[in-house]
Amino acid sequence: MRVHIVGGGLIGLSCAWRLRSAGHQVTVLDAAPQARAASWAAGGMLAPHHEALNHPEHHDHELWRLGCRSLARWRDLAAELGGSAQIDHREGGGVVPLRSPAVDASAARLAAAGVAVRALTAAELADREPALAAVPGGGWWLPGGQVDPRRCLERLAALCVAQGVAVRQAAVHGLQPGRVALADGTSLESDQVVLASGAWTPALAALAGIDLHGEPVKGQMLRFAVPDGLLAHFVHAPGTYLIPRAGQGVVVGATMVQAGFDQRDDPAAIARLAAGAQALVPALAGAAIAERWTGLRPRLRHGRPVLARLAPGLVLATGHFRNGILLAPATADAVLGLVEGRPDALIDCFAMPAEPGVAPERIMG
Ligand SMILES: Cc1cc2nc3c(=O)[nH]c(=O)nc-3n(C[C@H](O)[C@H](O)[C@H](O)COP(=O)(O)OP(=O)(O)OC[C@H]3O[C@@H](n4cnc5c(N)ncnc54)[C@H](O)[C@@H]3O)c2cc1C
Repeated sequence: MRVHIVGGGLIGLSCAWRLRSAGHQVTVLDAAPQARAASWAAGGMLAPHHEALNHPEHHDHELWRLGCRSLARWRDLAAELGGSAQIDHREGGGVVPLRSPAVDASAARLAAAGVAVRALTAAELADREPALAAVPGGGWWLPGGQVDPRRCLERLAALCVAQGVAVRQAAVHGLQPGRVALADGTSLESDQVVLASGAWTPALAALAGIDLHGEPVKGQMLRFAVPDGLLAHFVHAPGTYLIPRAGQGVVVGATMVQAGFDQRDDPAAIARLAAGAQALVPALAGAAIAERWTGLRPRLRHGRPVLARLAPGLVLATGHFRNGILLAPATADAVLGLVEGRPDALIDCFAMPAEPGVAPERIMG
């Protein structure tokens, strides 16, 4: 089949790679010369269990199951991208430096669902992460992984091109099933259009008459330049996370602000993030901030991605919000199934919501 993918972020490129590997003829259209949107900005944690632990009030059982499926698929994708070292893929999990009745109850539910969570005493936590400030109550270790999203984007784009995917810089200005119109007035026909344009998808979907309520959620990030080895795992604390990144130091995130498409750095948020990170890891107190940046998380109003074939010739793969790096491999598998018309009971849970403003039933796993 001939497939046009609108959006060359990690979701669009992962779909392109999977579709091309299955023999389809794929073109990726991205408005920017280099895709530097949410995927480029992300922290890169592959952390479905940490999300469930730290946000029990938002826990969505099916999203968690999709996250578990995708976490398992990252090992294959890392191998396809040239091996873990190429993309700083790690599978060592991450620590949560916190015990509280709510966190402990979430951890117990994850354990009951078969996740190998481990409660850590203060001494065990200090043993695993000596750079952390003392946490008298101890914390948790949960399975999970991480990647460097920027290196993933570079490797995926190179792999796609090497395997015959056409990657074009082109802004899509019009859309119908099986057809996209470009800013220069040309229009391109295909068997399927896959809409994977992140925070910009609701506006593009509207061009095809699809009412997809969504608003970007801005995240401020920064990076401390410190030698490798300060942290062994990512540290997932409420409101702040720290991710060691090979050869680059420690990445710190992230704010969650609804400010439309404003991508300016926020000095006050940078100061808060830096102070939060330094309180967790005192050795960062003297470290230089080497980089600061923002990104726009693609959030739909019902809080879930939509992975669905809306009409013959139009597939949606969008709304990955806080988890698009984690969910990229499972999304690519899902899109291949949707394009080829193969049913999948879990992916059916990510159809267009009947009422986009209504949250789905949320059940803890
Ligand atoms: C600060 C921050 C931290 C995050 N941390 C994590 C994390 O630790 N783990 C995790 O799993 N997820 C994380 N996320 C979420 C994750 O980054 C996103 O869910 C994911 O990157 C979305 O990917 P995407 O390809 O859909 O969108 P994007 O990466 O935003 O790509 C969309 C692409 O569409 C293109 N486009 C837009 N309009 C058009 C048009 N008209 N024509 C052609 N192209 C167009 C854009 O140029 C862009 O390249 C984070 C996000 C942010 C912002």
